[in-house]
Amino acid sequence: MSDANLLMKVRAALKAVPVPGGGDIVSSGAIEGLSATTQGVVRFTLNAAKAGGDPEKILAAATAAAEAVKGVARVAAVAAGHRDAAAGAKPGGHANPFGLTKPSRIEAAGQELKDVRNVIAVASGKGGVGKSTLAANLAVALARRGLSVGLLDADIYGPSLPTLFGLSGRPEIVDGKIIPVDKFGVKSMSIGLLVDADQALAWRGPLVMGALRQLIADVAWGALDVLVIDTPPGTGDAHLSLAQTKRLTGAIIVSTPQEMALADVRRGVEFFRKVKVPIIGIIENMAWLDAAGGDRLYLFGKGGAEQAAKDLGAPFLGALPIFPDLRIASDEGIPLAARDPNATPAKMIAQLAEKISGGFRA
Ligand code: ADP
Repeated sequence: MSDANLLMKVRAALKAVPVPGGGDIVSSGAIEGLSATTQGVVRFTLNAAKAGGDPEKILAAATAAAEAVKGVARVAAVAAGHRDAAAGAKPGGHANPFGLTKPSRIEAAGQELKDVRNVIAVASGKGGVGKSTLAANLAVALARRGLSVGLLDADIYGPSLPTLFGLSGRPEIVDGKIIPVDKFGVKSMSIGLLVDADQALAWRGPLVMGALRQLIADVAWGALDVLVIDTPPGTGDAHLSLAQTKRLTGAIIVSTPQEMALADVRRGVEFFRKVKVPIIGIIENMAWLDAAGGDRLYLFGKGGAEQAAKDLGAPFLGALPIFPDLRIASDEGIPLAARDPNATPAKMIAQLAEKISGGFRA
């Protein structure tokens, strides 16, 4: 429920934040969508184009001003280049949700990855199939093979890298570049560290593209052998944008084994083929559970993803069973591939990583 009284107080506090061109952020029209709930949650978007100056700095000042108001429990604010968001509707224009640098075409963002030898997208038809778990553990396993690895959590609608890698806080920004977090031998960045989840949820096409463009071009990835990108479930704006960077070495599709998965895998394979991104292969996750009594239980059916791979003529990389340890390690913020590389699941993931890296550009 909204709190009109709190809203008034926050608006008054924001009026004390100046903009470089003179005046304040409220009268310049730079504060959009301001709301305050009875729980003290304040939300707004800073229109970077109207604010002028350094949007990061102005956003920080505006957030601090709102946080200082009595009764405010949390401020969820983001800078967005609205002029650019409107342009995003036109081909080639992209929104600038973090307000860091001037947006450019997605292909130009791809060129920023010139020192990254391989870029792989990890995709799935649905959520909850273990795509993020695999992306994170594969990244660690690839790093353990001696490769320099980056991991980008671009799952705009459900970023899980902060949990999987135990990351928190805003990343450092140096000279307008977001510095990736170096952990478990992997340089990682998550959209979850840059914006609040509830804000990204409302994003549509141009903002999604803009966010991806910035995660690619505005993060100081440097020289990498491989950048692993955890993409949102399904195949949508994010995947199309990534394909348009013309930098994808290939895609990995993660699926569970049931019959239903077949349709998902087919859709994924057809999508990547249409946008001319090679399919590195399909991984069947949660393929079975070895019960304590020695029984092997096929909880989600048997071999559906492997069969789909065969039917579609796409490489099958392997199956990974359900290992409770894999989930426990993820929930504790240490991927199993890093915590216990000699454990069976970690070894199986290492084998998958070996297969995948076989096709990398050296
Ligand atoms: P997605 O990215 O597809 O939404 P997640 O990687 O978040 O899926 O996985 C969903 C849940 O399943 C998480 O709790 C994760 O720890 C768990 N999980 C994934 N793969 C396995 C596995 N092979 N064994 C046990 N748990 C798994």
